[in-house]
Amino acid sequence: MRRGRRSLKSGRFLPNIDVDQWLADHPDFLIDCPHQPGNLRITRDACAKRHATANEPRWANIGAEPFHIFVFKMNLVPCRKCELGASLAREAKIKAA
Ligand code: SF4
Repeated sequence: MRRGRRSLKSGRFLPNIDVDQWLADHPDFLIDCPHQPGNLRITRDACAKRHATANEPRWANIGAEPFHIFVFKMNLVPCRKCELGASLAREAKIKAA
């Protein structure tokens, strides 16, 4: 059965949220990363995941190939010894338990 097309103009697919207002109401949702370039703002959960990923044992086994994985590894270098990421990863672990 073929589904009918939905027009984007109908507004059904557009989120009905004011992002700036939502962020103003949830000031702790994003943190400013002190180590990544470009004044990165990231969620607390994503930061904790990056720290955990950067400290997985398999991280050390990643070589120069495939190149896109190597680039991802290099992107995680600042997260390996980041104290902010470590504290957020600890919080996330406690929350999950
Ligand atoms: S772990 Fe540290 S370096 Fe990595 S995103 Fe979080 S704050 Fe930034």
